[in-house]
Formats: sequence, structure tokens, C-alpha cells
Amino acid sequence: MDSSHVDDGVNHGRGWQSPKVSVQAYDNGRALVAVAAIDAGELLVRLAPVFVPTRDRYTIQVDATRHQAGTGEADDFMNHSCDPSTHLDIDRLEVTASRSINPGELITFSYTTTEWELAEPFDCRCGAAACLGRISGFRDLGREQRRLLAPRLSTYLRGRLDDR
Ligand SMILES: [Zn+2]
Repeated sequence: MDSSHVDDGVNHGRGWQSPKVSVQAYDNGRALVAVAAIDAGELLVRLAPVFVPTRDRYTIQVDATRHQAGTGEADDFMNHSCDPSTHLDIDRLEVTASRSINPGELITFSYTTTEWELAEPFDCRCGAAACLGRISGFRDLGREQRRLLAPRLSTYLRGRLDDR
């Protein structure tokens, strides 16, 4: 990791967030948005490890027994997209840009790369050509959908690639 990122960002508790992203009002709620041009591969958020045993709408699944808690930090405000702007590596607790991101764009990741099942399934309206539609968790994806996600899956879900 490039440690130069650590010093010029904003510390929120034990987590870290790049000054290039900000939680802003969006669609009757709040969402994490780019506020500066971001290059592919840039580190944007580092999550403070706060694990809980049960899932809710703000948790991110780490493995069979641990979920990263909703802590009020940036990751709680990352919307889902089927064609996301970032990759959330839950094993490293890091969010990095998957591509270049323009100011004003949402910081998104694919919930299906971490969640076996969602506490609150929803109908996705991300607009991606390959939008999965109903997002209820990795459990409910077909074989081909799972294969496409394989390179971005958490270690836990990679181990469940063929599970039902
Ligand atoms: Zn979608």
C-alpha cells in the first residue's frame, strides 16, 4: 500500500477516507460521492475493523461468522452497482477505484462480491447493461453470474463458488 495516502486524508475513528470522496445528500438519503478526479487503482477508503456476528443493512460480510459493522463511516454510504466504480476488498478492508472516476460520480461496489445473502434484498436500478436486477446475495446467482464475479469475490465467497 502507498502510505502517502494515509497522511493527507481524513481520519474517522480508526478508519481512513481519501479527501477525494465525501458523503453527500443523494436520492432521499446520503451516498459516498467522488469530489475530485480519481485514477484507477487509487485507495479511497480503509475500513476500521469492527466485526459483528449478524448481518443488517449496513454490514459487509467478511466470512461465515463475521460481518463488518455499520460504524457511520464512509463504507456505510457506498451504494451497490452491478458495474461498480470501486472494488471493496473485505479481506484487506480496503476500497480501491476499479477505473477512473469523475467528480460527482457515485462510489459504488457490488454487494454480491461480499454478501452470501442480504439482510434487505432490493431491486437494483444501477442501469448497467449487465444489471442483475433483484439483489439478494451471492447465494441466488446462477453459475455464469458467479463465474463473472469470481475475480472480485471475497475469500469467503470464493470458497462457496459452487455452494447452494
Ligand atoms: Zn444493477
